[in-house]
Amino acid sequence: MKKVALVFVVAVLVPSLVLAWLAVRSLRDQQFLLERQQSLLYQRVTDALAKNVSNQLATEQQKFSQLAEMLARKNPREAAIQFDNQIRQRWPLAEVGFSVTLSGIATCTLTCPTPTAGPEAQRFLTDNGGFLGNQESAEVYWNANLKGGNQATVINAKTDPQMNAAPQQVQVENSSVAQVLQSAQKISQTNQSSLNSQSAGLNFYAAKTKQRAVNPQGGNKQVVDNQSPEQLDNNLSKVVPAEAEFRQLIGDETDGMLARFLQNKLKLMFWHRLNNDPNLIFGAQLNLNRVIDGLRDLVQADPELRDEICVALLDDNAKPVTISRSGFQSNWKHPFVSTEVGEALPHWEIAAYLVNPASLTQAAHTAKLTLGLLIAVLVLAIGVGSWLIVRSLGVELKLARQKTDFVSNVSHELKTPLTSIRMFSELLAEGRVTEPAKQKSYLQIITAEAARLTRLINNVLDFSRMESGEKKYNFQPCDLAEVARNAAQTFRPHLEANGFKFDCALPDAAIPVRGDGDALSQIIVNLLSNAEKYSNGQKEISMQVNRRESPLPYVEIKVLDRGTGVPRDCAEKIFEKFYRAHDSLSSGIQGSGLGLTIARQIARAHGGDVVYESREGGGSCFSLRIPIRGETA
Ligand code: ADP
Repeated sequence: MKKVALVFVVAVLVPSLVLAWLAVRSLRDQQFLLERQQSLLYQRVTDALAKNVSNQLATEQQKFSQLAEMLARKNPREAAIQFDNQIRQRWPLAEVGFSVTLSGIATCTLTCPTPTAGPEAQRFLTDNGGFLGNQESAEVYWNANLKGGNQATVINAKTDPQMNAAPQQVQVENSSVAQVLQSAQKISQTNQSSLNSQSAGLNFYAAKTKQRAVNPQGGNKQVVDNQSPEQLDNNLSKVVPAEAEFRQLIGDETDGMLARFLQNKLKLMFWHRLNNDPNLIFGAQLNLNRVIDGLRDLVQADPELRDEICVALLDDNAKPVTISRSGFQSNWKHPFVSTEVGEALPHWEIAAYLVNPASLTQAAHTAKLTLGLLIAVLVLAIGVGSWLIVRSLGVELKLARQKTDFVSNVSHELKTPLTSIRMFSELLAEGRVTEPAKQKSYLQIITAEAARLTRLINNVLDFSRMESGEKKYNFQPCDLAEVARNAAQTFRPHLEANGFKFDCALPDAAIPVRGDGDALSQIIVNLLSNAEKYSNGQKEISMQVNRRESPLPYVEIKVLDRGTGVPRDCAEKIFEKFYRAHDSLSSGIQGSGLGLTIARQIARAHGGDVVYESREGGGSCFSLRIPIRGETA
């Protein structure tokens, strides 16, 4: 038992409880997991949209290059003078067109637009004249996260005064800007004498990466103020600014985009180097509103996610320039997830906002509740299962012990009468007893012992039949008063021979029942036999047969003695198979523990019962109750 219990505890109970404990612990992370899952899903959406926006701008860039080539096909130099006018007429995105003639190593001449072209052109010249004429450097942007083979190291790094950062070295990978920087390095190395890098502004420095204008919350509900250094790092913009002059910026490239912030406003420019006249650069400053109009259709969530999220294109101040759900309001600076568009639109983001943020908490709550309930049910099932197993193990063990006792008890019970029968029959057979009175007494003992043996064997056989469900009853109308009378008459000589006073109160009238007379007689004999066995020297037994009318008519046969009685806590147990309240060893009374089990089973098969009550003044009172089926039944 101990071994089985140990194996059960080690192999089943402990692992189950550990698993349940782990499951309970994981409940706490449900909301985080759900948010993480959602953020991964929506992040894919914003990543794809940001890529689409970049691709769209690249397509427009290509269109611009083709247009520039077309306008310059006949006479590039003349086209350069009229480029502003021409491009604005043919390309709605153009706000101002410009052309730059390159000469020498670092000289540029801005051919177009002229200040007379209008206020827009005048403003453009004020903002960009120096930069496009290669007289001053300007801040440009590149994506610090681009991956690739070519690497350029930005040297002479210096601190951006606004960002208050320490000097740093930045790795720039495989981008046109990287090539620009490489060529710029070359220039500064080969022309040290003519170009003083400090004074001419040829110092390329990477300012410290700017903090993103937004703070995505996906999968991380911690507020902005409590961010760890790692989180702060994640929130740095991947688009980093660097100072460059126009010549260095374009390098040997054929076309490109230029993003500048002027008076805190983004200015986007495309430029193209003519194929047949590489010293001519045609460019255009784009009308940002029209660019945004062109992007409006792109900034849409997938149809199946439309009810869940609203996507928006945010400018560098985290203000939405276009959103997928009109009228949607949110804290724009704290999207659920967002992706930077890249160097074409520096610090612009594609952001996704939850349409119903409470639904996520609710879903997490429901998942938590369901899982919690499931765990509770499982733990309960494990608990109940364990209890049932332990209980059934206990019952089985008890039964096994009782069976062993039963075998030894029955062997003993068989042996005792056999010994008596053998001894007295030998005495008689050898003619050693000559007195007739003694002979009669010995013969009576032999008869009584043979009857006891028969009772025991009958009980064992009956029990085995009952256990296998093979016990058959011969139900027929019979008079229970007569059955009781016959049983008493059979047993009386034995009792009286042993000095018992046996009072028997039987009614004169018949008590008709429907039943198996022999089986009912067996119950009475078992009860009388027990009364004798457990008399404890008080040789006084009585039997009463009474008819009762309430609640339904039944007959009650009481067998009373003045013996040891049954201990109170065993009153019901004595009807269990093999159970003995009086242990053979301590009491010296032999028994199989089957008599009352069989008696109750027979009584119940007749619709009645056998019950025990302690008797007032000491002793036992066993009552057999059988329903009366009808006077003529
Ligand atoms: P057994 O063969 O042991 O007598 P029974 O099933 O007839 O088996 O009885 C079960 C137990 O009930 C007995 O072992 C005894 O402890 C108790 N018992 C039965 N009859 C009496 C009685 N008349 N007085 C006291 N105890 C009794």
